[in-house]
Amino acid sequence: MTQLDRIFGNAVDVIPREELEKRLNSGRPLRIKLGFDPTAPDIHLGHAVVLKKLREFQDLGHTAVLLVGDYTARIGDPSGRSKTRPMLTPDEIEANTRTYLDQAHLILDRERTEVRHNSEWLAPLTLADIIGLTRATTVARILERDDFSKRFGVGDPITLTELLYPLVQAYDSVALDADVELGGTDQLYNLLMGRHIMEYYGKTPQCVLTMPLLVGTDGSAKMSKSLGNYIGLTEHPRDVFGKTMSIPDNLMRDYYELLLDRDILDATPVEQKRELARGLVRVLHGADTVEDAEATFDTVAKRGIPEDAPEVTLPEGDVWIVDLITLAGFAKTNGEARRLIKGGGVRIGGEPVVDEKVSLDAEALQGSVLQVGKRRYARLVPPR
Ligand code: ATP
Ligand code: MG
Repeated sequence: MTQLDRIFGNAVDVIPREELEKRLNSGRPLRIKLGFDPTAPDIHLGHAVVLKKLREFQDLGHTAVLLVGDYTARIGDPSGRSKTRPMLTPDEIEANTRTYLDQAHLILDRERTEVRHNSEWLAPLTLADIIGLTRATTVARILERDDFSKRFGVGDPITLTELLYPLVQAYDSVALDADVELGGTDQLYNLLMGRHIMEYYGKTPQCVLTMPLLVGTDGSAKMSKSLGNYIGLTEHPRDVFGKTMSIPDNLMRDYYELLLDRDILDATPVEQKRELARGLVRVLHGADTVEDAEATFDTVAKRGIPEDAPEVTLPEGDVWIVDLITLAGFAKTNGEARRLIKGGGVRIGGEPVVDEKVSLDAEALQGSVLQVGKRRYARLVPPR
């Protein structure tokens, strides 16, 4: 397979294709932009699809420009949305950015990655600059995109702010001098607006390459944080294995192609899935974690608590639920423990714990099982 075949192989749109081929053959290192809005704390396998493509460009000697949309996150990307997004606070945006970057570097080559935040050039824009930018397009062209036309058609509100999103994210390409912009197919409209706006500002327009949207573990919608159908890059190996085993059979081909870089195993659907689960655990956590993840899946599948569920010695008196989770080693920080509780994945004796403030009487907990996610268990034992 030639390098170009590899780049274009699993892409959906390549616009314009001849131009991108020409640039790739020019021998000049290209600037490849990939934008992320830090709207949630974790990166999932859907994001890995585009990050892996970015990594392929890096492996050919090009520069990855990872654009953190710390300013565009305040506007909210309307792509695929049927409602205005909730506003994020600057603190939330900053915290999300930190975890996003750590996780993105699991896939990217740090040396060849230029991380940029769009507040750098968006924050100093004056009203005159913004008026100038809005002249670059027409209302008809903005309303053309189906996310807007659907909402407009049924009379759902669209804020003027949202209309600005495609323009503002396109302006990032002007500031970054992007040669190529990558994204999922849901970004096509935004990426093409990037071409238009670059031209408007007298720059050579970027080429655009889109990747298929990975369908989530529910088998119906795109993998997304808000739908709870995702597998996070830093999730525990046992959770990665178990969640993968819950993906519908008909998605195997896409998962192999977009995440494992290998042909689908010629075997029964369940064996294909096991091999995918092993492959994903191996890529994300290393080969030495696969056996435990698979063995645990087999035990839990028989509805038991894994034999090796660790024992956690309870302290005297009251114990705060957040401390209990970190004590059991299921979270490294209090923040992570809180997220697990908020996500609804924490149970004691089978009962969900939803209040992150709750303190429990250690004596009453003796002999209970603490469960985090579907596959991690600990037995709570009295102080010695
Ligand atoms: P949100 O649902 O809040 O929009 P997101 O998961 O789409 O979040 P973004 O920051 O909007 O995250 O997306 C970053 C990049 O990842 C975009 O190019 C987007 O198209 C791509 N992407 C997101 N989800 C998937 C997916 N399931 N499969 C492939 N690419 C995806
Ligand atoms: Mg999105």
